[in-house]
Amino acid sequence: MTERSTRRLASLKSFALDAGLGSHVGGGLVAGRGETVELVDPCDGETWTIYPDAGEAVVDQAMQAASGALTTWQALTASARGRLVWQVGQKVRERLDDLAQLETLTTGKPIRDTRAEVLKVAEMFEYYAGWCDKLHGQVIPVPTSHLNYTRREPLGVVVQITPWNAPIFTAGWQIAPAIAAGNAVVIKPSELTPASTLALARLAEEAGLPKGLVNVLAGLGQTTGEAAVTHAETRLVVFVGSPRTGALIAAAAARNTVPTILELGGKSANIVFADADLDRAALGAQAAIWSGAGQSCVAGSRLVVDRRVQEQLLDRLATAAGRLVVGAPEDEATAIGPILCERQWRTVDGMVEAARQAGARVRAGGGRPAHLAERGCYFAPTLIDEVRPDMAIARDEVFGPVLTVLPFDDEEEAIAIANGTRFGLAGAVWTQDVGRAHRVAAAVRAGTFWVNGYKTISVMSPFGGFGASGHGRSSGEEALLAYTQTKSVWIETAAEPPAGFGYGGD
Ligand code: NAD
Repeated sequence: MTERSTRRLASLKSFALDAGLGSHVGGGLVAGRGETVELVDPCDGETWTIYPDAGEAVVDQAMQAASGALTTWQALTASARGRLVWQVGQKVRERLDDLAQLETLTTGKPIRDTRAEVLKVAEMFEYYAGWCDKLHGQVIPVPTSHLNYTRREPLGVVVQITPWNAPIFTAGWQIAPAIAAGNAVVIKPSELTPASTLALARLAEEAGLPKGLVNVLAGLGQTTGEAAVTHAETRLVVFVGSPRTGALIAAAAARNTVPTILELGGKSANIVFADADLDRAALGAQAAIWSGAGQSCVAGSRLVVDRRVQEQLLDRLATAAGRLVVGAPEDEATAIGPILCERQWRTVDGMVEAARQAGARVRAGGGRPAHLAERGCYFAPTLIDEVRPDMAIARDEVFGPVLTVLPFDDEEEAIAIANGTRFGLAGAVWTQDVGRAHRVAAAVRAGTFWVNGYKTISVMSPFGGFGASGHGRSSGEEALLAYTQTKSVWIETAAEPPAGFGYGGD
């Protein structure tokens, strides 16, 4: 047994997950009944566990558990619910290091990243805890003798489907607003990374949430995921993942008139003008694309750079690409871990190779780092220039550490390049001209935009996509409202009944 597998086993054990992975339903572990899912460590290729796909019967059990827990949850006062949601945040803080270790050992994400992500999960529960007793409607001055007011009511059981790149972060991101708004949750993390979401659901119950309020399905998309999306109890589907799967899920949900929120992929533009502080812009560009090995929905994968400073900026980036520490995720010094699975590694490699064939130049990286050539899904930080905007590498999401360079001559061209894809998730501009910063921020079609920075997000601020990057918002007040439906209540206050059929006012 390798040191890594010994540590992984201990970590799983500390969350009582050593008996094998299954689904967390109604407060207990339920074994799946479907085909076998194999989990392979991206650092060394070792198969570290297998578990059966949950399947339809387990989905049904989870939906019933969630429906049952709704009654208990909604019977509490809003303040009592808020106190419990706050406690979940405290539990996450208490076990921060353990959760970060678990995430690192089961996904291959560097420990310095997982620690920051788990801390954000605590903040998510704390933020939404405060909202529980502030989620109220309005009194509307209607032109009749009525008192009219609105109520923000929960939807019921919501289904959440999440991807593999930031499992515990995405789970907290969606579970916290859903339960704060009074809903129950059935969440299906990626079949490749269920462990940290299972651990989070357990901690949430230890913190005092009713059993069954948060259920986790361990299983595959086309079986377990689809059964949850199309289940009769489902009132909302929130999907975080690829545009292709998002479209399939939205269509399946629509057949039952169930709404969806879609958080999809991106091909975000990081625009650097000649007047920018180039040292800071270079650091920002590295973080934008190479952190998380590029497996980030908001990755700044297109560097849109003023031709006058292109060479200066690329020199800095090529040097940095050679210096960044790529390696074992549990090492504190590691900046870039492996790609999560061999299949994704091959996708990234194939896209870089296709760009090369199409005439682009790989200026740094472009395959396995030399010192890690023997095993593991490592991919060197990669910089590609001499790219034409019509090449696949300039248009399609790579979801790997690959930065594509597109030069421009003026502001108009920079904006046209930034808006030249079907995506619209995020973007940034680097400039010292304040007027230009605001003009570009307004003109780029993206749900999140940074000026002289990249990747900062907070649960307090709305997050989501334009265009093919999805619709609806996660985080902030908007996410909370998205997990509710509005009821309008009319109360007749007239002393005498209205004449004729005048109840409607008009
Ligand atoms: P994916 O679309 O392959 O899978 C996402 C989830 O959907 C998984 O849990 C999977 O099991 C499930 N799924 C697959 N087919 C399904 C079906 N037919 N019915 C129900 N569920 C199904 O995505 P991925 O490869 O896991 O993640 C990478 C993608 O996620 C990238 O495109 C990335 O940009 C995107 N992403 C977006 C955000 C965001 O907030 N916008 C955040 C992280 C990742």
